Amino acid sequence: MNKWRLLPAAFTLVATTAGAQPAGPPGGGAPPPRYALVHAGQVLAVPGRRPEGPATIVVKGDRIERVAPGFIDAAAAGVPAGAAVEVVDLRQRFVLPGLMDAHVHLRSEPSFSRRRTERGDRNTTTPAEAAVNAVIYARRNLAAGFTTVRDLGSDDQSVFAVRNAINAGRIVGPRILVAGSAIAVTGGHGDGTPWDQTADPAVRLADGTCDGADACRAAVRYQYKLGADVIKVTTTGGFGSNTGLEPQLFKDEIEAIIATAHLNGLKVAAHAYSPVAIKDAVRAGIDSIEHGFLLDDEGITLMKKAGTFLVPTLSASYPPPVFRVPNPESVALRNQYRAFERAYAAGVPIAFGTDAGTFTHGDNVKEFELMVRFGMTPADAIRSATVTTAQLFGIEADAGTLEAGKLADLIAVDGDPLADVSVLRRIDFVMKSGRVAKRGGVMQDSLDYLPPGAPFPP
Ligand SMILES: [Zn+2]
Repeated sequence: MNKWRLLPAAFTLVATTAGAQPAGPPGGGAPPPRYALVHAGQVLAVPGRRPEGPATIVVKGDRIERVAPGFIDAAAAGVPAGAAVEVVDLRQRFVLPGLMDAHVHLRSEPSFSRRRTERGDRNTTTPAEAAVNAVIYARRNLAAGFTTVRDLGSDDQSVFAVRNAINAGRIVGPRILVAGSAIAVTGGHGDGTPWDQTADPAVRLADGTCDGADACRAAVRYQYKLGADVIKVTTTGGFGSNTGLEPQLFKDEIEAIIATAHLNGLKVAAHAYSPVAIKDAVRAGIDSIEHGFLLDDEGITLMKKAGTFLVPTLSASYPPPVFRVPNPESVALRNQYRAFERAYAAGVPIAFGTDAGTFTHGDNVKEFELMVRFGMTPADAIRSATVTTAQLFGIEADAGTLEAGKLADLIAVDGDPLADVSVLRRIDFVMKSGRVAKRGGVMQDSLDYLPPGAPFPP
């Protein structure tokens, strides 16, 4: 398994730029590591266990060195003399791992498309506009406490560019796992080819549109070639496309897509409503079912046995999407089948995902409130957005908890989210990879992370 190609490069670059001076110290050698001592009133180091505190999270560079009881100083933390050290005062705060959203679309949101429509523009976001949007919306996701997000389908290469700029330290934003264009069949949900260019091979490849196993293998390989971290496939119709909710792929097509992605070490997320399509995808080895509203009992059994994750995206349907045509049918179906409640009760792993982009970026946190409203405990909802998402992404060795050796991705709130998840609406502090992005409720950096004239990291 090709373990998330994003990680090693991202970490190397963070380490390179963290010292700030591109030329390096006199005499050569790596710049001394920076330390941070995060004094936390309470810390939920491992979601699912009990919070502890007071405690000090000792951060060296981009990683957590250890979590020590009490508020300790640099000497007690073992910081070498002369090393840069910052003490972060969160003694009145509740600290938890950075949140993760398994389902966002960074290239747009309703406010943008609505403004365009009101101006009378074509209701199409150009790739250039999408890239600017993605910079802004990625930053907003980070400000909302999401240190890692998965972009599940953006119809151009804009989000690849934004991911790369964030990894290179050029702009601030969450870690992004990018799917590129969703793989879809002609006329299916996710077929974004213009009606008169549906047969153009170049247009089809760029859009991820394919028919037949071989063409679908090529479509997956093309997104991999562009740098995809994950593959998204739309196996049924959806509310946004008026193509119904039934299966749109033959078994050999879904099997070819999943096998090709797995061959390249990429996980596959399936947009799926119909229970038949869900089960076909699970039997073919899909990693996550997105939405999954019509999930039946057999599907639940199969998912539990295979360890397939459900990404419920309750936020997208409840309340209804505000873009295009508001769709009460989506809410009615969700409430009729209660797939989330039934899957949770059965022990199917639930990975937090919202479909932000079909609603305002930064409002992702409302998913927590919906999960709790539909019967999940706050502790399980937070675990779903940290430990479980990390497992789904395959990054559990690096993220999801605040333990020695993990990336220093952490957030703080004023109040106990285990008692009331709505306190997550007000994120006071964000640290990503050991760097403070938000403090006292205010984002700390301008859009440009590097000093003017600094060379791009390699
Ligand atoms: Zn989506």
